[in-house]
Parts: sequence; structure tokens; C-alpha cells
Amino acid sequence: MTEIFATKKLKALYPKVKQFIEEELYPSELYLLTDPWSEVSQILDAKRKRAKELGLWAPYLPENEGGLGLSMTEFGQISELLGGTPLGHYVLNCQAPDIGNIELMHQFASKELKAKYLEPLMKGEIRSCFSMTEPEFAGSNPVNLGTTAVLEGDEFVINGHKWFTTAAEGATFAIVMAVTNPEADPYQRASMIIVPTDTPGFELTRNIPIMGDVGEGYLSHAEINYVDCRVPKSNLIGEMGSGFMLAQQRLGPGRIHHCMRWIGICERAFDMMCKRAATRELRDGKKLGHQQTIQNWIAESRAEINAARFMVLHAAHKMDQEGSKAARMEISTIKFFVADVLMKVLDRAIQVHGALGITDDTLLSFWYRHERGARIYDGPDEVHKSSLAKAILKGYGI
Ligand SMILES: Cc1cc2nc3c(=O)[nH]c(=O)nc-3n(C[C@H](O)[C@H](O)[C@H](O)COP(=O)(O)OP(=O)(O)OC[C@H]3O[C@@H](n4cnc5c(N)ncnc54)[C@H](O)[C@@H]3O)c2cc1C
Repeated sequence: MTEIFATKKLKALYPKVKQFIEEELYPSELYLLTDPWSEVSQILDAKRKRAKELGLWAPYLPENEGGLGLSMTEFGQISELLGGTPLGHYVLNCQAPDIGNIELMHQFASKELKAKYLEPLMKGEIRSCFSMTEPEFAGSNPVNLGTTAVLEGDEFVINGHKWFTTAAEGATFAIVMAVTNPEADPYQRASMIIVPTDTPGFELTRNIPIMGDVGEGYLSHAEINYVDCRVPKSNLIGEMGSGFMLAQQRLGPGRIHHCMRWIGICERAFDMMCKRAATRELRDGKKLGHQQTIQNWIAESRAEINAARFMVLHAAHKMDQEGSKAARMEISTIKFFVADVLMKVLDRAIQVHGALGITDDTLLSFWYRHERGARIYDGPDEVHKSSLAKAILKGYGI
């Protein structure tokens, strides 16, 4: 917890969440990543029940929706704690992509959609996914979409090919981004539509292997064909053609959530690196940590993680005070900066562990495999750097 950003509420909650994840998740985290999802999800359901009993459920949701009503700055610090273990966010129902879908639907879905889909999602009774990226089009340019949703009477007929729909296996519904207004300005062509995954024509073709790991259930990324999927017109979220605006709304807070989770991973990897450096003996009395190179990695990692945390909390604070739009540049900055720190810290931690670092006997290899995507999803590094530089250069007249 960072003292200058610590409120009374956060100070009371923080130790409880810390104790909960250390007792409930740390001891079993390696098995939870490798055992079949059908068994793991049952274990996690029991832990979710416990989290609810302890009053830790969904910290980001308003209190009248069953959450704890934390600000972004407060939640960011809880998110860091949860990020220290791979299923921390899941157990408190603040895991991506559900948290993004919840925030989006909370703001823009109709009463009917909220009752049918949002309520059970907030209670953790169902899961959801977000289906926007397509293999045939560059996802970095979100106006590039081949999926269409054509109105026929009171129904949308959806056709398209998506991939990297995270956590689609076992989800109850997908929020699908599809072109509904092909003649409109590029930023007003697409809409977001809820498609239940049991709709005829929703075809989950495969889970895509990530560096050799195909994943399962919540821990998977699906390729999906939408073939003449018919859903009621009332499954539209917001207005026709508002998909791009909604995607922007969804991504702002989402990027802060990811960054704080990554700092949690960094802290855990850093702790593992230091423990290994302090215990692994090269020869009598000479530990790895006595080597200057290792000391450099430890010092550089400490400085980078501290810097990353302050930058993220500053962005979260700006978002709390002035909204997502005002904090756009701060969010772009942390997205590429923290992803880079994450890569460096994980790599150093693996190197210090030697061969052990690339086995699945520690968490490092899971994170190395699955977090490489951090530099790609929610906007690749290059796009964020370019946006930031353009905004800066505007002040210099270009
Ligand atoms: C782990 C993971 C989970 C994901 N989950 C989801 C999900 O749940 N739902 C979903 O819809 N999508 C998801 N995605 C997809 C993600 O949003 C896209 O991968 C991302 O938008 C980039 O699109 P692309 O892969 O098509 O890369 P491309 O757009 O083809 O870009 C390839 C590369 O080109 C470079 N590049 C792109 N634009 C520029 C530019 N303007 N300037 C300079 N260089 C540039 C970057 O280096 C980039 O990495 C996920 C991706 C990953 C890796």
C-alpha cells in the first residue's frame, strides 16, 4: 500500500485481502493452474463464497450493487495485491474480461439486459467474454472489422470470425463488436451486441495455444465463428453505431486494472528473485546475491517497480478526479511503461532461478508465457507511444 494514496477505507481492507490471498490462494496456486478447469472452478467457487462471507467481494462495484465502492486509486492498490497470484482477481470477481463488461453494462446496458445478464455476472454466477479482434484484420486499428450484424425485423443476424476472445469457453454470453452501419463514418459503423453462447451459430472452433499452452475454461483464448447467429434487437448495448465509443470507455479503466495487476506480478517475481539470490549458494558462503550483476538486477527492478506504481496511481488519481478522457495520456504512458517493466522483472527473476526459472515448478514460467501479451493487448506499445508523442508534439506546433 502506498501511504500517500492510502485512505481509511483502504487501510482497513488491505490487510484483510492480503491475509485472504496468502491463506486461500498461495498454497494451491501452482495446482490451480495445471489441474482440469472443471475441478479448479469448483475449488475457486468455494473460495469465492468465502470471499463474500468476509466482505471482500467485487471491491470496485458500488456498495448498493454488492461491492465495496472503492475509487480507482483504492482499487488499484487492491488489484496489485490480487495480481500477486494468478487467480487472485477471479476469486474476488474482478477478473478481466468480466470486470470490463460489468463496468460497460453498468453504464450503458438497458434495464432488461442488466436484469438478465449483468446481475448474475456481478454475483459471480456466470462468466462473460468480449469478442472484438479478428484474425483477418489488424486489431490495432479498431475500426477494421469484418463481422456484420444485419437487422432482420426484430433480430440481428450476426456473421463473422473472431479470435483471442478470452475466457469464451464456459462463458454464458459474449459482447460482440460488429458492423451495423456500414455507410457511416468509420468510427460510427460498429455496435456492441450481446450474444448468448448457446445461440445456434455460435461456434467455438478452438482454444488458441499460447506458447504451447492451450488453456481451458476461464484460462483460455478462443477462436469463434459467428454463423447466422440470431439475437433480439434489444441485445444491443447503447446506441446503434456506438461500438467504438463504448470500446474506448471500456478500455480506459481496463488499462489501469491491467497495470496494477502487472505491478502485483512484478512484486511477487521480485520477492522470488531476492529469496533465490539470498539462498542459492555458488560455493561455500558465496550466494548468488553476492554477485554484482544480480545486485544490479535487484536494484534496477526495485527502482522500476516503484516508478511504475507511482505512475499508475497518479493516472488512477487523475481518472478519479477528472474522468477517463482527461487521463488519456497518463493511461497510454503507463500501458507501455509498466508492460516493459513487467517483461524486464520477469526475465531477470527467471535468469536468477536458472533452469528452475523456465520449469512450471514456479509461477514465473506461467507469467512469462501468458503476460508477453501485455505489450500487445489493449493497444500495442507502439500505438500508445505514438499517441503520447503526438499529443506532446502538438504543443510544439505539429
Ligand atoms: C493475451 C491476449 C488476450 C486478448 N484478449 C482479447 C479479448 O478478450 N477480446 C478481443 O477482442 N481481443 C483480445 N485480444 C486481442 C488484442 O486486442 C489484439 O491482439 C490487439 O488489439 C492487437 O491487434 P493484432 O493482434 O491484430 O495486431 P496488429 O494490429 O496486426 O499489430 C501487429 C503489431 O504491429 C505493430 N503496430 C500496430 N499498429 C501500429 C502503429 N500504429 N504504429 C506502429 N506499430 C504498430 C505493433 O507492434 C503490433 O504488435 C487479446 C490479445 C492477447 C495477446
